[in-house]
Amino acid sequence: MTPISLEPITVLAAVLGACVGSFLNVVAWRLPRRESILSPPSHCPHCGTTLAWYENLPVLGWLWLRGRCNHCHAPISPRYPLVELLTAGLWVAVVLASPSAMGAPPLWLLMIAGWALISLLVPLVLIDADQLWLPEPLCRWGLVGGLVVTALLGISQSEAIARQLLVNHLLAAAVGLLVFEGLSALGEKLLGRPALGLGDAKLTALLGAWLGLQGMGLAVALAVLGGAALGSIGRLTGRLGPHQPFPFGPFLAFGGIAVWLAGEGWWLRWFGGWLGYQSL
Ligand SMILES: [Zn+2]
Repeated sequence: MTPISLEPITVLAAVLGACVGSFLNVVAWRLPRRESILSPPSHCPHCGTTLAWYENLPVLGWLWLRGRCNHCHAPISPRYPLVELLTAGLWVAVVLASPSAMGAPPLWLLMIAGWALISLLVPLVLIDADQLWLPEPLCRWGLVGGLVVTALLGISQSEAIARQLLVNHLLAAAVGLLVFEGLSALGEKLLGRPALGLGDAKLTALLGAWLGLQGMGLAVALAVLGGAALGSIGRLTGRLGPHQPFPFGPFLAFGGIAVWLAGEGWWLRWFGGWLGYQSL
């Protein structure tokens, strides 16, 4: 591992990432409640007092308030600073990451694309974890955004690469949607109850648009492994009832982020090593 250097771009990524994380907290809270994302300004959900600018600073504001509203002293969830820290960390990771299979576009373009993908997936994770629901507009526009980013990354190299990438990523989005919708219908028929949400199909299609066929396949494989592991632990420890549904979206999203950050080659080698080890 290369040591994290305090280059200006890393610091910028951390600060911008924390600010965007603060905004994503707002999105994750207000979108399911059909509230406007832009107004009113951030306020205490208990007493409605508008936060002062320094109370609104990512992470620092929460620390300054010691996790309580200054006015009514209601506790403010530590989830807010944690999401800000997570987003900041992922934005830094994007700067240090090995690029995914996009050819060799300019690094700054790849970096902005990675930041956009993280900022799209974090609220989807939060909303799915809270509500077992992946908002359709966010999935749809996220998918369109993925295709636009793919086209831009392709065009920055050559028209032929752009065409090749776009065909691959369009195909991946279609395959992701159809396979997961098929699995969802099959699961419902076999189990007599919804097994996979249709939101998961839309999120898989979104990952296809950003990662292409191979990247999407790796992300889904990681999601299935992670979901199976955590699901079994949850059932064994009794934290999860036998038929209690749990959101699959966060696993898909983390699979997608893992593929973007470490690159497809790394995960292919990891799966290869893992499968080889299993067959010994
Ligand atoms: Zn309050």
